[in-house]
Amino acid sequence: MTRKLELHWKILIGMITGLLFGLIMKNLELNGLVVDWIKPFGTIFINLLKMIAVPLIVVSLIVGLADLKDISKLSKLGGRTVLIYLGTTIFAVSLGLVLANIVKPGRFINGASRQSLLESFSGDASQKIELAERAKMSGPLQPMIDIVPDNFFQALSDNGSMLQVIFFVILLGIGLILIEEEKAKPVVDFFKGLNEVIMKIIDIIMLFSPYGVFSLMAALMVEIPDFTTLAALGIYGLTVLFGLLIMIFVLYPTLLMVFAKVNPIRFFKAIAPAQLLAFSTSSSAATLPVTMECVTEHVGVDEEVSSFILPLGATVNMDGTSMYQAVAAIFIAQAMLPQALDLQTQLMIVVTATLASIGSAAVPSAGMVMLVIVLGQAGIPEAGLALIFAIDRPLDMCRTVVNVTSDATVATIVAKSVGKLNQFPQDKKL
Ligand code: ASP
Repeated sequence: MTRKLELHWKILIGMITGLLFGLIMKNLELNGLVVDWIKPFGTIFINLLKMIAVPLIVVSLIVGLADLKDISKLSKLGGRTVLIYLGTTIFAVSLGLVLANIVKPGRFINGASRQSLLESFSGDASQKIELAERAKMSGPLQPMIDIVPDNFFQALSDNGSMLQVIFFVILLGIGLILIEEEKAKPVVDFFKGLNEVIMKIIDIIMLFSPYGVFSLMAALMVEIPDFTTLAALGIYGLTVLFGLLIMIFVLYPTLLMVFAKVNPIRFFKAIAPAQLLAFSTSSSAATLPVTMECVTEHVGVDEEVSSFILPLGATVNMDGTSMYQAVAAIFIAQAMLPQALDLQTQLMIVVTATLASIGSAAVPSAGMVMLVIVLGQAGIPEAGLALIFAIDRPLDMCRTVVNVTSDATVATIVAKSVGKLNQFPQDKKL
Protein backbone atom coordinates (compact mmCIF):
# COMPACT_ATOMS: atom_id res chain seq x y z
CA MET A 1 0.00 0.00 0.00
CA THR A 2 1.46 3.37 -0.90
CA ARG A 3 0.36 6.32 1.17
CA LYS A 4 1.11 9.78 -0.18
CA LEU A 5 3.48 11.61 2.09
CA GLU A 6 1.97 14.89 3.28
CA LEU A 7 3.54 18.02 1.89
CA HIS A 8 4.93 19.35 5.15
CA TRP A 9 6.85 16.11 5.67
CA LYS A 10 8.31 16.37 2.20
CA ILE A 11 9.36 19.96 2.85
CA LEU A 12 10.89 18.93 6.17
CA ILE A 13 12.83 16.14 4.50
CA GLY A 14 14.00 18.62 1.84
CA MET A 15 15.13 20.96 4.58
CA ILE A 16 17.08 18.40 6.59
CA THR A 17 18.73 16.75 3.60
CA GLY A 18 19.60 20.23 2.25
CA LEU A 19 21.29 21.17 5.52
CA LEU A 20 23.22 17.89 5.63
CA PHE A 21 24.21 18.16 2.00
CA GLY A 22 25.39 21.75 2.56
CA LEU A 23 27.38 20.67 5.60
CA ILE A 24 29.12 17.90 3.66
CA MET A 25 29.90 20.22 0.76
CA LYS A 26 31.24 22.84 3.16
CA ASN A 27 33.54 20.29 4.73
CA LEU A 28 34.70 19.17 1.31
CA GLU A 29 35.31 22.85 0.51
CA LEU A 30 32.96 22.64 -2.45
CA ASN A 31 31.04 25.80 -1.52
CA GLY A 32 31.36 27.25 -5.03
CA LEU A 33 29.68 24.21 -6.53
CA VAL A 34 26.65 24.65 -4.28
CA VAL A 35 26.42 28.37 -4.98
CA ASP A 36 26.69 27.89 -8.76
CA TRP A 37 24.67 24.72 -9.27
CA ILE A 38 22.28 24.24 -6.34
CA LYS A 39 21.41 27.70 -5.05
CA PRO A 40 19.80 28.86 -8.34
CA PHE A 41 16.99 26.32 -7.85
CA GLY A 42 16.21 27.90 -4.49
CA THR A 43 16.20 31.33 -6.10
CA ILE A 44 13.88 30.07 -8.83
CA PHE A 45 11.54 28.68 -6.17
CA ILE A 46 11.41 32.01 -4.32
CA ASN A 47 10.86 33.83 -7.60
CA LEU A 48 7.94 31.53 -8.41
CA LEU A 49 6.32 32.31 -5.08
CA LYS A 50 6.88 36.04 -5.43
CA MET A 51 5.63 35.90 -9.01
CA ILE A 52 2.27 34.58 -7.89
CA ALA A 53 1.96 36.72 -4.72
CA VAL A 54 0.75 39.99 -6.30
CA PRO A 55 -1.76 38.39 -8.71
CA LEU A 56 -3.05 36.33 -5.80
CA ILE A 57 -3.51 39.36 -3.55
CA VAL A 58 -5.32 41.33 -6.25
CA VAL A 59 -7.67 38.58 -7.32
CA SER A 60 -8.49 37.06 -3.96
CA LEU A 61 -8.96 40.45 -2.33
CA ILE A 62 -11.40 41.53 -5.04
CA VAL A 63 -13.34 38.29 -4.66
CA GLY A 64 -13.26 38.51 -0.86
CA LEU A 65 -14.39 42.12 -0.71
CA ALA A 66 -17.12 41.68 -3.29
CA ASP A 67 -18.47 38.76 -1.25
CA LEU A 68 -18.75 40.99 1.82
CA LYS A 69 -21.60 42.83 0.07
CA ASP A 70 -21.63 45.49 2.77
CA ILE A 71 -19.15 48.29 3.56
CA SER A 72 -19.88 48.26 7.28
CA LYS A 73 -18.66 44.65 7.44
CA LEU A 74 -15.39 45.79 5.90
CA SER A 75 -14.82 48.50 8.49
CA LYS A 76 -15.68 46.08 11.30
CA LEU A 77 -13.22 43.58 9.91
CA GLY A 78 -10.55 46.22 9.34
CA GLY A 79 -10.92 47.72 12.82
CA ARG A 80 -10.63 44.38 14.60
CA THR A 81 -7.71 43.26 12.49
CA VAL A 82 -5.67 46.40 13.10
CA LEU A 83 -6.38 46.31 16.84
CA ILE A 84 -5.33 42.67 17.24
CA TYR A 85 -2.28 43.15 15.04
CA LEU A 86 -1.20 46.09 17.17
CA GLY A 87 -1.91 44.25 20.41
CA THR A 88 0.20 41.22 19.53
CA THR A 89 3.05 43.43 18.28
CA ILE A 90 3.15 45.50 21.47
CA PHE A 91 3.11 42.27 23.50
CA ALA A 92 6.01 40.96 21.41
CA VAL A 93 8.19 44.05 21.89
CA SER A 94 7.47 44.12 25.61
CA LEU A 95 8.33 40.42 25.90
CA GLY A 96 11.61 41.08 24.08
CA LEU A 97 12.47 43.92 26.45
CA VAL A 98 11.67 41.90 29.56
CA LEU A 99 13.73 38.92 28.37
CA ALA A 100 16.71 41.03 27.35
CA ASN A 101 16.66 42.83 30.71
CA ILE A 102 16.52 39.57 32.63
CA VAL A 103 19.09 37.59 30.63
CA LYS A 104 21.36 40.55 29.83
CA PRO A 105 22.87 38.88 26.73
CA GLY A 106 25.15 41.87 26.11
CA ARG A 107 27.10 41.09 29.26
CA PHE A 108 28.14 37.69 27.88
CA ILE A 109 30.14 39.07 25.02
CA ASN A 110 33.78 39.66 25.87
CA GLY A 111 35.95 42.51 24.63
CA ALA A 112 37.86 40.38 22.12
CA SER A 113 34.76 38.93 20.44
CA ARG A 114 33.16 42.36 20.39
CA GLN A 115 36.16 43.86 18.65
CA SER A 116 36.46 41.07 16.14
CA LEU A 117 32.71 41.15 15.29
CA LEU A 118 32.75 44.94 14.94
CA GLU A 119 35.73 44.73 12.61
CA SER A 120 34.50 41.81 10.52
CA PHE A 121 30.98 43.08 9.94
CA SER A 122 31.34 46.86 9.97
CA GLY A 123 31.07 47.00 6.16
CA ASP A 124 27.84 44.99 6.08
CA ALA A 125 26.45 47.04 8.92
CA SER A 126 27.14 50.37 7.24
CA GLN A 127 25.25 49.18 4.15
CA LYS A 128 22.16 48.57 6.26
CA ILE A 129 22.65 51.88 8.07
CA GLU A 130 22.73 53.67 4.73
CA LEU A 131 19.51 51.97 3.64
CA ALA A 132 17.85 53.01 6.87
CA GLU A 133 19.12 56.59 6.52
CA ARG A 134 17.29 56.83 3.21
CA ALA A 135 14.08 55.64 4.86
CA LYS A 136 14.56 58.17 7.66
CA MET A 137 15.08 61.21 5.45
CA SER A 138 11.39 61.59 4.69
CA GLY A 139 8.86 63.46 6.85
CA PRO A 140 6.69 61.93 9.59
CA LEU A 141 3.67 61.42 7.32
CA GLN A 142 5.70 59.76 4.55
CA PRO A 143 4.47 56.25 5.45
CA MET A 144 0.90 57.49 4.85
CA ILE A 145 1.84 59.02 1.50
CA ASP A 146 3.56 55.78 0.56
CA ILE A 147 0.32 53.82 0.89
CA VAL A 148 -1.38 55.78 -1.90
CA PRO A 149 0.04 54.90 -5.32
CA ASP A 150 0.28 57.55 -8.01
CA ASN A 151 0.28 54.79 -10.58
CA PHE A 152 -1.42 51.51 -9.83
CA PHE A 153 0.34 49.61 -12.59
CA GLN A 154 3.70 50.71 -11.30
CA ALA A 155 2.72 49.49 -7.83
CA LEU A 156 1.64 46.17 -9.35
CA SER A 157 5.04 45.70 -10.87
CA ASP A 158 6.92 46.24 -7.63
CA ASN A 159 6.80 43.52 -4.98
CA GLY A 160 7.77 46.13 -2.38
CA SER A 161 4.56 48.10 -2.96
CA MET A 162 2.15 45.58 -1.57
CA LEU A 163 0.35 48.13 0.63
CA GLN A 164 -0.26 50.35 -2.42
CA VAL A 165 -1.75 47.41 -4.27
CA ILE A 166 -3.96 46.57 -1.30
CA PHE A 167 -5.10 50.21 -1.11
CA PHE A 168 -6.22 50.29 -4.72
CA VAL A 169 -7.84 46.87 -4.62
CA ILE A 170 -9.83 47.82 -1.50
CA LEU A 171 -11.18 50.81 -3.43
CA LEU A 172 -12.01 48.53 -6.32
CA GLY A 173 -13.81 46.15 -3.96
CA ILE A 174 -15.75 49.03 -2.40
CA GLY A 175 -16.71 50.17 -5.91
CA LEU A 176 -17.97 46.68 -6.70
CA ILE A 177 -20.07 46.58 -3.54
CA LEU A 178 -21.60 49.97 -4.27
CA ILE A 179 -22.63 49.47 -7.90
CA GLU A 180 -25.68 47.51 -9.01
CA GLU A 181 -25.26 43.81 -8.38
CA GLU A 182 -26.17 42.95 -11.92
CA LYS A 183 -23.30 45.10 -13.26
CA ALA A 184 -20.81 43.87 -10.67
CA LYS A 185 -21.55 40.19 -11.25
CA PRO A 186 -19.61 39.61 -14.48
CA VAL A 187 -16.55 41.35 -13.02
CA VAL A 188 -16.71 39.31 -9.83
CA ASP A 189 -17.32 36.08 -11.74
CA PHE A 190 -14.28 36.72 -13.87
CA PHE A 191 -12.09 37.22 -10.82
CA LYS A 192 -13.60 34.16 -9.11
CA GLY A 193 -12.55 32.04 -12.08
CA LEU A 194 -9.11 33.59 -12.10
CA ASN A 195 -8.82 32.96 -8.38
CA GLU A 196 -9.30 29.23 -8.95
CA VAL A 197 -6.62 29.28 -11.62
CA ILE A 198 -4.14 31.04 -9.34
CA MET A 199 -4.81 28.59 -6.52
CA LYS A 200 -4.07 25.77 -8.96
CA ILE A 201 -0.81 27.45 -9.99
CA ILE A 202 0.18 27.61 -6.32
CA ASP A 203 -0.48 23.87 -6.04
CA ILE A 204 1.83 23.33 -9.00
CA ILE A 205 4.56 25.55 -7.53
CA MET A 206 4.30 23.70 -4.24
CA LEU A 207 5.10 20.42 -5.95
CA PHE A 208 8.55 21.91 -6.41
CA SER A 209 8.80 23.10 -2.79
CA PRO A 210 10.80 20.19 -1.28
CA TYR A 211 13.50 20.68 -3.93
CA GLY A 212 13.41 24.48 -3.59
CA VAL A 213 13.80 24.18 0.15
CA PHE A 214 16.63 21.66 -0.26
CA SER A 215 18.56 24.16 -2.42
CA LEU A 216 17.90 27.07 -0.06
CA MET A 217 19.11 25.12 2.96
CA ALA A 218 22.20 23.78 1.20
CA ALA A 219 23.12 27.32 0.10
CA LEU A 220 22.49 28.66 3.59
CA MET A 221 24.80 26.08 5.09
CA VAL A 222 27.75 26.94 2.85
CA GLU A 223 27.25 30.70 3.18
CA ILE A 224 26.77 30.96 6.94
CA PRO A 225 29.76 32.19 9.00
CA ASP A 226 31.68 29.51 10.86
CA PHE A 227 30.62 28.18 14.21
CA THR A 228 33.09 30.05 16.40
CA THR A 229 31.70 33.39 15.22
CA LEU A 230 28.17 32.21 15.93
CA ALA A 231 29.08 30.83 19.35
CA ALA A 232 30.11 34.27 20.63
CA LEU A 233 26.55 35.38 20.01
CA GLY A 234 25.03 32.25 21.55
CA ILE A 235 23.28 33.82 24.55
CA TYR A 236 21.86 36.64 22.44
CA GLY A 237 20.61 34.15 19.83
CA LEU A 238 19.09 31.93 22.51
CA THR A 239 17.31 34.90 24.10
CA VAL A 240 15.70 35.79 20.77
CA LEU A 241 14.83 32.15 20.17
CA PHE A 242 13.33 31.75 23.62
CA GLY A 243 11.11 34.79 23.03
CA LEU A 244 10.01 33.44 19.67
CA LEU A 245 9.21 30.06 21.21
CA ILE A 246 7.05 31.74 23.85
CA MET A 247 5.12 33.48 21.11
CA ILE A 248 4.61 30.31 19.11
CA PHE A 249 3.90 27.85 21.91
CA VAL A 250 2.24 30.06 24.51
CA LEU A 251 0.80 33.27 23.08
CA TYR A 252 -0.79 32.06 19.84
CA PRO A 253 -2.15 28.76 21.18
CA THR A 254 -3.74 30.67 24.08
CA LEU A 255 -5.27 33.26 21.76
CA LEU A 256 -6.53 30.51 19.46
CA MET A 257 -8.13 28.52 22.28
CA VAL A 258 -9.65 31.48 24.09
CA PHE A 259 -10.86 33.63 21.20
CA ALA A 260 -11.40 31.16 18.38
CA LYS A 261 -12.02 27.87 20.24
CA VAL A 262 -9.56 26.24 17.89
CA ASN A 263 -7.34 23.28 18.76
CA PRO A 264 -3.77 24.67 18.42
CA ILE A 265 -2.26 21.31 17.44
CA ARG A 266 -4.63 20.91 14.52
CA PHE A 267 -4.02 24.54 13.66
CA PHE A 268 -0.25 24.07 13.58
CA LYS A 269 -0.64 20.97 11.46
CA ALA A 270 -2.79 22.92 9.03
CA ILE A 271 -0.33 25.77 8.63
CA ALA A 272 2.87 23.68 8.82
CA PRO A 273 3.72 24.06 5.10
CA ALA A 274 3.56 27.87 5.46
CA GLN A 275 5.71 27.79 8.60
CA LEU A 276 8.32 25.58 6.95
CA LEU A 277 8.43 27.83 3.90
CA ALA A 278 8.72 30.92 6.07
CA PHE A 279 11.70 29.27 7.74
CA SER A 280 13.33 28.34 4.45
CA THR A 281 12.70 31.58 2.54
CA SER A 282 12.96 34.15 5.39
CA SER A 283 10.24 36.10 3.67
CA SER A 284 6.61 36.49 4.73
CA ALA A 285 5.84 37.96 1.32
CA ALA A 286 7.21 34.95 -0.56
CA THR A 287 5.33 32.66 1.83
CA LEU A 288 2.03 34.54 1.45
CA PRO A 289 0.53 32.39 -1.33
CA VAL A 290 1.02 29.28 0.78
CA THR A 291 -0.20 30.97 3.97
CA MET A 292 -3.38 31.97 2.11
CA GLU A 293 -3.92 28.44 0.88
CA CYS A 294 -3.27 26.82 4.28
CA VAL A 295 -5.44 29.27 6.21
CA THR A 296 -8.31 29.18 3.74
CA GLU A 297 -8.40 25.54 2.77
CA HIS A 298 -7.01 23.79 5.83
CA VAL A 299 -7.81 25.99 8.83
CA GLY A 300 -11.16 26.92 7.29
CA VAL A 301 -11.06 30.73 7.37
CA ASP A 302 -13.47 32.12 4.79
CA GLU A 303 -11.73 33.72 1.84
CA GLU A 304 -13.61 36.98 2.47
CA VAL A 305 -11.58 37.32 5.64
CA SER A 306 -8.25 35.71 4.75
CA SER A 307 -7.89 37.58 1.46
CA PHE A 308 -7.97 40.85 3.35
CA ILE A 309 -6.18 40.02 6.58
CA LEU A 310 -3.27 37.93 5.35
CA PRO A 311 -1.78 40.27 2.71
CA LEU A 312 -2.14 43.13 5.16
CA GLY A 313 -0.55 41.04 7.89
CA ALA A 314 2.36 39.96 5.70
CA THR A 315 3.28 43.61 5.28
CA VAL A 316 2.42 45.20 8.61
CA ASN A 317 2.18 42.49 11.26
CA MET A 318 5.58 41.21 12.29
CA ASP A 319 5.58 40.04 15.87
CA GLY A 320 8.75 38.00 15.49
CA THR A 321 10.56 40.94 13.96
CA SER A 322 9.49 43.38 16.65
CA MET A 323 10.44 40.95 19.44
CA TYR A 324 13.84 40.48 17.84
CA GLN A 325 14.30 44.24 17.45
CA ALA A 326 13.68 44.77 21.15
CA VAL A 327 16.17 42.08 22.21
CA ALA A 328 18.75 43.22 19.64
CA ALA A 329 18.50 46.87 20.70
CA ILE A 330 19.02 46.04 24.36
CA PHE A 331 21.80 43.57 23.50
CA ILE A 332 23.71 46.19 21.51
CA ALA A 333 23.16 48.79 24.23
CA GLN A 334 24.47 46.37 26.88
CA ALA A 335 27.52 45.52 24.79
CA MET A 336 28.36 49.05 23.68
CA LEU A 337 27.17 51.47 26.35
CA PRO A 338 28.66 51.82 29.85
CA GLN A 339 25.28 52.39 31.55
CA ALA A 340 21.95 50.57 31.24
CA LEU A 341 19.10 52.15 29.26
CA ASP A 342 16.60 53.96 31.47
CA LEU A 343 12.93 53.05 31.60
CA GLN A 344 11.86 55.99 29.46
CA THR A 345 14.21 54.96 26.65
CA GLN A 346 12.97 51.39 26.89
CA LEU A 347 9.36 52.57 26.62
CA MET A 348 10.40 54.56 23.57
CA ILE A 349 11.71 51.30 22.11
CA VAL A 350 8.20 49.81 22.47
CA VAL A 351 6.88 52.58 20.23
CA THR A 352 9.71 52.65 17.71
CA ALA A 353 10.05 48.87 17.40
CA THR A 354 6.28 48.56 16.88
CA LEU A 355 6.41 51.17 14.12
CA ALA A 356 9.63 49.75 12.70
CA SER A 357 8.15 46.26 12.43
CA ILE A 358 5.12 47.71 10.65
CA GLY A 359 7.47 49.54 8.28
CA SER A 360 9.71 46.52 7.65
CA ALA A 361 9.29 44.94 4.24
CA ALA A 362 8.38 41.26 4.30
CA VAL A 363 11.71 40.17 2.84
CA PRO A 364 14.92 38.67 4.27
CA SER A 365 16.74 40.83 6.81
CA ALA A 366 14.38 43.80 6.44
CA GLY A 367 13.93 43.80 10.20
CA MET A 368 17.61 44.51 10.61
CA VAL A 369 17.45 47.62 8.40
CA MET A 370 14.60 49.02 10.46
CA LEU A 371 16.47 48.16 13.64
CA VAL A 372 18.86 50.97 12.72
CA ILE A 373 16.03 53.44 13.27
CA VAL A 374 15.17 51.91 16.65
CA LEU A 375 18.83 52.18 17.69
CA GLY A 376 19.10 55.78 16.48
CA GLN A 377 15.99 56.86 18.41
CA ALA A 378 17.23 55.24 21.60
CA GLY A 379 20.70 56.74 21.35
CA ILE A 380 22.38 53.34 20.89
CA PRO A 381 25.41 53.35 18.53
CA GLU A 382 24.20 52.15 15.13
CA ALA A 383 27.60 50.69 14.35
CA GLY A 384 26.68 48.04 16.95
CA LEU A 385 24.64 46.41 14.21
CA ALA A 386 27.89 44.74 13.18
CA LEU A 387 27.71 42.74 16.42
CA ILE A 388 24.58 40.85 15.46
CA PHE A 389 25.24 40.45 11.76
CA ALA A 390 26.76 36.99 11.85
CA ILE A 391 23.74 35.37 13.43
CA ASP A 392 21.05 37.40 11.70
CA ARG A 393 20.12 34.94 8.98
CA PRO A 394 19.19 32.01 11.23
CA LEU A 395 17.28 34.37 13.52
CA ASP A 396 15.56 35.91 10.50
CA MET A 397 14.37 32.45 9.48
CA CYS A 398 12.91 31.86 12.93
CA ARG A 399 11.28 35.27 13.31
CA THR A 400 9.66 34.93 9.89
CA VAL A 401 7.96 31.73 11.12
CA VAL A 402 6.52 33.76 14.00
CA ASN A 403 5.43 36.56 11.66
CA VAL A 404 3.54 34.11 9.48
CA THR A 405 2.05 32.21 12.44
CA SER A 406 0.82 35.48 13.88
CA ASP A 407 -0.91 36.46 10.63
CA ALA A 408 -2.61 33.08 10.44
CA THR A 409 -3.67 33.25 14.11
CA VAL A 410 -5.17 36.72 13.79
CA ALA A 411 -6.99 35.74 10.59
CA THR A 412 -8.51 32.78 12.44
CA ILE A 413 -9.56 34.85 15.45
CA VAL A 414 -11.11 37.61 13.35
CA ALA A 415 -12.87 35.04 11.16
CA LYS A 416 -14.35 33.41 14.24
CA SER A 417 -15.52 36.77 15.59
CA VAL A 418 -17.48 37.52 12.42
CA GLY A 419 -18.81 33.98 11.98
CA LYS A 420 -16.58 33.17 9.02
CA LEU A 421 -14.65 30.21 10.40
CA ASN A 422 -15.56 26.75 9.28
CA GLN A 423 -12.95 24.84 11.28
CA PHE A 424 -10.70 22.38 9.51
CA PRO A 425 -12.85 21.51 6.51
CA GLN A 426 -12.11 18.20 4.86
CA ASP A 427 -8.36 18.55 4.41
CA LYS A 428 -7.46 18.86 0.78
CA LYS A 429 -3.89 17.73 0.18
CA LEU A 430 -1.76 20.51 -1.22
N1 ASP B 1 12.19 38.34 7.06
C1 ASP B 1 11.09 38.90 7.84
C2 ASP B 1 9.79 38.65 7.12
O1 ASP B 1 9.75 38.55 5.93
C3 ASP B 1 11.28 40.35 8.11
C4 ASP B 1 12.48 40.53 9.02
O2 ASP B 1 12.34 40.39 10.23
O3 ASP B 1 13.57 40.78 8.51
O4 ASP B 1 8.76 38.53 7.75
